[in-house]
Amino acid sequence: MDNGATRALPGDSILTSAVEYFTSDGIFIASEAVGLSAGAPHPQLSAHRAKFHSTLVAECRRLLGEDRLILNHSFVHFEQGEDGMLSLQFESTDAKAPQPAVCCDFLVAADGLKSRVRACLLGSAEPRYTGRTIYRGLCEVDGVSADGRTVSLCGDQNCNFICYPISEKLREQGRFHCNWGFCTLRPHPGGVESWTSLAKLEDIREELERMGANSFAGLTPLQMAERSDSIIGWALFDRDPLETFDFGQVTLLGDAAHPLLPYGSQGATQAIMDAEALGVSYQNAMQSGTGIRGCIKAYSDLRCEVTGKVVIANREMGSTAVLKVVDQQTEGLELEAKRKWCSEHGARLHDEVIQKYRASMPKSVRARKPTATA
Ligand SMILES: Cc1cc2nc3c(=O)[nH]c(=O)nc-3n(C[C@H](O)[C@H](O)[C@H](O)COP(=O)(O)OP(=O)(O)OC[C@H]3O[C@@H](n4cnc5c(N)ncnc54)[C@H](O)[C@@H]3O)c2cc1C
Repeated sequence: MDNGATRALPGDSILTSAVEYFTSDGIFIASEAVGLSAGAPHPQLSAHRAKFHSTLVAECRRLLGEDRLILNHSFVHFEQGEDGMLSLQFESTDAKAPQPAVCCDFLVAADGLKSRVRACLLGSAEPRYTGRTIYRGLCEVDGVSADGRTVSLCGDQNCNFICYPISEKLREQGRFHCNWGFCTLRPHPGGVESWTSLAKLEDIREELERMGANSFAGLTPLQMAERSDSIIGWALFDRDPLETFDFGQVTLLGDAAHPLLPYGSQGATQAIMDAEALGVSYQNAMQSGTGIRGCIKAYSDLRCEVTGKVVIANREMGSTAVLKVVDQQTEGLELEAKRKWCSEHGARLHDEVIQKYRASMPKSVRARKPTATA
């Protein structure tokens, strides 16, 4: 049977097999199989963002044609004429030079968290700071953690550390291209919302040191951070769900439609499910003759309310909440008593938190077909 492990993986990605949870003092709480290993019809992949982008670009060119994908252009503004046609303004990203207007009758904006199309439609609402900042880095490690395909998390109520492999090529060499993130409480950063701000190791050294009983592929969280060429600090801002994705001939998709806090691996998942729902809605609207407006209304009906619930659920830190709840319930216990508590209750508590979170997740709009076997 083909469980996917032998297929060529896009963008050198890892076929993620499991997620494991530890307390900040290194006590095992629980682990669970994910993706194909859990019997899901689709794999869970972990990839380097730049390699993933290159894969998408190549695939778009292959499917649509070389000249159909235009890069290095920033959307600036759009207007709608009396005939219903949309006129879009772009500028070249490098030269900041205005480009000739582009006309269309259907605009799907997948321009991310700080969507300029959403700002054109609804104005720029001020996002709220959540009180948390994520620090991220990449490093290479000699050796693999667990089976080389596992996501590992450790932490407590205040902070958590996550690390996972993102290169299948390195895994095959017995090495670990490690993507790590450390989320912790921080005062308002001031300035603009950014996830490209450089941070210093000293900003997080003490907190990572306190997690030193945890070790993944032989390295503690601090040792991983020390091996990273650069560390990015990303202050987490929150936005309320939208009331509709239906703006006549314009709609939003992905983070532009439902900006998610980055827990539970839902950001990419929900964007993909939006695209699926939009495709189904388009096909149905073309067959039934309700046109672009019918398509966008159906898409909004399918996805707006359910993704709004994911936005709300992720405010409670998604599946990462396991670490918070265990810490709350073991507060004041000595290490050995805490170890005993986790071995007796960890798996049950993990299941409760995860099942509650999963129950709030939307389902695919298409009936799932069984995966092919060979
Ligand atoms: C550091 C980090 C780590 C993350 N880790 C995970 C994870 O492990 N798992 C997960 O599921 N999600 C993760 N996410 C969230 C995930 O990346 C997003 O939810 C997902 O990429 C949303 O896809 P999208 O296509 O809607 O937006 P994006 O991937 O943000 O794509 C938006 C695109 O629009 C372009 N764009 C923006 N403005 C304009 C404009 N004016 N004109 C033209 N183009 C424009 C951008 O350049 C970008 O290419 C992470 C996010 C960050 C920032």
